Amino acid sequence: MIIAMKHGVAREEALHFAESLEKQGVKVNFSEGATRTVLGLVGDTTAIDQEALQASRLVEKVIRVQEPYKRANRMFHPDGTKIVLLPANGKKAKIGGGTFAVIAGPCSVESREQIISIAEEVKKAGGAFLRGGAFKPRTSPYSFQGLGCEGLDLILEAKKETGLPIVTELMEISQLELFEEVDVIQVGARNMQNFNLLKELGRCRKPILLKRGMASTMTELLMAAEYIMSGGNERVILCERGIRAFDSFTRNVLDLALIPALKKKTHLPVIVDPSHATGIAWMVPAMSKAAIAAGADGIIVEVHNDPEHALCDGEQSITPDSFAELMSVLRKYAELEGKTI
Ligand code: PEP
Ligand code: MN
Repeated sequence: MIIAMKHGVAREEALHFAESLEKQGVKVNFSEGATRTVLGLVGDTTAIDQEALQASRLVEKVIRVQEPYKRANRMFHPDGTKIVLLPANGKKAKIGGGTFAVIAGPCSVESREQIISIAEEVKKAGGAFLRGGAFKPRTSPYSFQGLGCEGLDLILEAKKETGLPIVTELMEISQLELFEEVDVIQVGARNMQNFNLLKELGRCRKPILLKRGMASTMTELLMAAEYIMSGGNERVILCERGIRAFDSFTRNVLDLALIPALKKKTHLPVIVDPSHATGIAWMVPAMSKAAIAAGADGIIVEVHNDPEHALCDGEQSITPDSFAELMSVLRKYAELEGKTI
């Protein structure tokens, strides 16, 4: 971090300011120019509050040289993080480190028949994880809100039947005790900056699938991951799920460029949600292929056995047959990228 002091700040004052910074655990290189003093901060500056410095009457400008996130930063962790889940039916489920993870299932758990039948189809086609929401964050309070605890029991039953590890969304801290058997906890786009929730998830030891907020920057997503990681939970999977833009043809706009950008900046696995990114089922295969080509470590895709009658997100859900077809294409794409599905 570089701090340019205001023109005319007295030497004594600048020295005093530098001392106060050193008390925060960094080394300060003091350089006096003809008209102004510049301070170069060396060491871990993640805890230094840039905005507070900028507010000082002595400071002209603060430039952050290093990213504000440390644990998620690839600079301190050059190898990509691989998340391995305990064997389910003897088969390890992995995300990252050369494995392209396919997470598939309905938007919401709707009934026993629905979730078990979709789970079987996902497994048959080679999907690695089963998704399905029990607690649903819906825009309208009048829309289907998910089956709640009953939905959770049903997806756990599907896990038992198929051996597929499950991914499901947690909306509030109080639900955590219900998630004991859940393999990966999803934090939805709307909760990406629910900092109390993120802190609590930092204390748990399950992998967290963190979805990008619909108007969040890359740095905000990484800082959200940092909240979880700084609590001691290093197993975070980042997910690009489309952001808000001006064209309403698609539900959101899939920010594919974020994938290589994230892969450069962080060691955490990065996946893509082509379903929420487009909102249109026929676009899902093209965007899934694009995700592999862009360097993603996986996808989370909505699959429904009866999209027309789905209680949530039917328009963007592909059928089990299309999913099986997609899987066979993705295997070829993954091979080209040197990854296995
Ligand atoms: C979901 O995955 O079902 C979901 C609600 O996604 P998002 O949080 O990205 O909108
Ligand atoms: Mn959905």
